Amino acid sequence: MKHLAEYKEEIHSCSKCGLCQSVCPIYKITGNDCTVSRGMFIMLRGLIKGDLKMTNRLNRYLDLCLKCGACSKFCPSDIDVTDIIASAKAEYFKLHPLEKIISFFQKYFIFGMGISILKLLSHNIKSKKFEKKVIYFGGCSGKIKGNKAVVKLLNSCNIEVITPNFQCCGISFYVRGDMESYNNYKKNFLAIVEKYGITDIVTTCASCEKTVRSFSQDINVKNIFEYIRENGLKLKLKKKKRVTFHKPCNIENYDDIKWILDNTENLDYIEMQGFDECCGLNGISKIKEYKIMSRVFGAKRNNIINSGAKTVLTSCLGCETALSFYSLGRYKAEDFTEFLVKNL
Ligand code: SF4
Ligand code: SF4
Repeated sequence: MKHLAEYKEEIHSCSKCGLCQSVCPIYKITGNDCTVSRGMFIMLRGLIKGDLKMTNRLNRYLDLCLKCGACSKFCPSDIDVTDIIASAKAEYFKLHPLEKIISFFQKYFIFGMGISILKLLSHNIKSKKFEKKVIYFGGCSGKIKGNKAVVKLLNSCNIEVITPNFQCCGISFYVRGDMESYNNYKKNFLAIVEKYGITDIVTTCASCEKTVRSFSQDINVKNIFEYIRENGLKLKLKKKKRVTFHKPCNIENYDDIKWILDNTENLDYIEMQGFDECCGLNGISKIKEYKIMSRVFGAKRNNIINSGAKTVLTSCLGCETALSFYSLGRYKAEDFTEFLVKNL
């Protein structure tokens, strides 16, 4: 992770074309240029030059960003806004002791104690042995749900699954600018992978996948859907099920998921409007921004309901949490891998 000043060139390469405004879910609600990459880059230029200070107001704009990356996909200058904002958040983190206290609670109570309690309910099974071996990085999702679904599906592809005791991938610390915690999670991950001497890593969560892939160029990270598709695994549900799917912003290979949605027998898949729009996960904790965030949540919720499906599938623990949080009993949000194994 670079320091904010090292992003100077990328920030200067913004041509101010405003294309990011047309896709940013937050700008569409606020109409305020400070809440989209173009305006944020102008502020960050001022910060780097020393004309502006890292105030709570500036931090508010950084926090309103959902880190969905929609603007980066359309940006003609190809600027990765999420990395730049994480780097700016790191500057804020260094200056504000309260941020460290929040991180402490997050690390020891949510990702520590909370996950350990949920782990007691997880379903773990022993993998069959095959010549091809992969390491399962479950992150928090793997701790809560266990490895049963992954082992069953990959064993059907003649792949052995090794399940080490990993910690979190650290993505939520990264977006909050707590780089020390994030780097510790990264070190823990790489040390475990080195110990096993296996470089093929499988995940079921898009955010874990994107994060651990960025840790090293010497590892080969794939999501489970790639393995299912490349092995041509034919899936058939016991009973007909109507579902829709929410595409996580962090997914990098949606084609494999779409292939499974289209090719699983008895799976009646309906593509909802805005299936690839952000669920607003990063807005859940922003209680003060409730008015803005409830519009993001409301749009997604309505799209799910209007699809006519009572189940929305996804492949990211964060998205699943957000979709469940505002479902108000109108639909059920489920992890795609878990859903498949439960219904086969
Ligand atoms: S789309 Fe990219 S280049 Fe255009 S204004 Fe937004 S950040 Fe700048
Ligand atoms: S990452 Fe998403 S929320 Fe943030 S500025 Fe870009 S489009 Fe807007």
